[in-house]
Amino acid sequence: MTLAKAYAATAATAPLGPYQFERRAVGPHDVQIEIAYCGICHSDLHQVRNEWGNSTYPMVPGHEIVGRVTAVGAHVKGFKVGDLAGVGCLVDSCRTCPSCQRQLEQFCEKGAAFSYNSTEMDRKTPTQGGYSSSIVTDEAFVLKISPKLDLAAAAPLLCAGITTYSPLRHWKTKAGDKVGVVGLGGLGHMAVKLAAAMGAEVTMLSTSKSKEADARKLGAHHFGLTSDDATFKKLAGHFDLIIDTISAPHDYNKYLGLLRVEGSMVLLGVPPEPTPVSAFPLIMGRRSLSGSLIGGIAETQEMLDFCAEHNIVSDIELIPVQQVNEAYERMLKNDVRYRFVLDMKTL
Ligand code: NAP
Ligand code: ZN
Ligand code: ZN
Repeated sequence: MTLAKAYAATAATAPLGPYQFERRAVGPHDVQIEIAYCGICHSDLHQVRNEWGNSTYPMVPGHEIVGRVTAVGAHVKGFKVGDLAGVGCLVDSCRTCPSCQRQLEQFCEKGAAFSYNSTEMDRKTPTQGGYSSSIVTDEAFVLKISPKLDLAAAAPLLCAGITTYSPLRHWKTKAGDKVGVVGLGGLGHMAVKLAAAMGAEVTMLSTSKSKEADARKLGAHHFGLTSDDATFKKLAGHFDLIIDTISAPHDYNKYLGLLRVEGSMVLLGVPPEPTPVSAFPLIMGRRSLSGSLIGGIAETQEMLDFCAEHNIVSDIELIPVQQVNEAYERMLKNDVRYRFVLDMKTL
């Protein structure tokens, strides 16, 4: 066992503060990582504040984890001490169910073990995330990070990167496709970069006029202000695929009208409350409304390799861990450009 230093939430209403806990001893298949950086995802905030109603405390959030390997178990083949490594939202799954066999561990039919606010597959041992000094994870759930990428800026690829890459691949985005990205935050800015790298014609749909110049720098070809009804008239029937990353309740029906015939809108954002969906924009054009959850381990590695090849990382604000509560408040004001990353040596 190793004592890990961390920042944890002890209740839905309390700010995060310093905390210590034991990481398990390194087992034969385990990789121990000294965490260098951890991204802050809006899902961290939803769970810290129990907005999804499933939170347990104390909770050490964080699932955009990168660092260096400090120990490996006797049977580990893919990693050695000193390697760069990452851990995302998944730390284990049953490995035998139909979803696991299809490399869709995120949909494990026994319920995957998530990095925090979850349990190991024994369903007893709580998992704790990356706002901490170290992590011990089975090598089957550890990712390789290219030394070509800036390490701190690569951390958000482990969630924001894979969550946006996976639907782009699933809906077979190709050169010339018209992709709309809704919400320019952590996920949104990765969606813009990845869709543009796949050759799509990308439109950023945002409530923040002040982000227009940034959206274009990130790779968006067009910008639509969603507080302006003219945007919805102009872009009606336009998109092959819409990627919705909004974290708060909003009207999906308005955006469905922007899809072409047989276009798809995929929900990535997880607002705490449900939203009514009208049949009309769906039947008028056989459009689809869908959702997507992160991505499997093999696809996450594919995304990391794609990012290394195309030199894609996140645009980050690197902050000391002591500023995490402030970062949450800024995230709630749409004031993140475009991902906060915690520098874990400040712990
Ligand atoms: P974020 O950085 O806070 O970005 C969210 C963006 O949504 C904001 O920057 C803002 O963009 C827009 N937005 C926020 N409130 C809005 C409102 N009331 N109306 C309209 N637009 C609003 O969050 P994130 O880390 O990207 O996460 C986004 C969502 O995805 C969260 O709900 C998170 O839990 C979820 N998530 C899902 C998965 C998955 O696997 N499906 C994985 C990770 C995260 P503009 O300023 O451009 O309008
Ligand atoms: Zn996340
Ligand atoms: Zn499974």
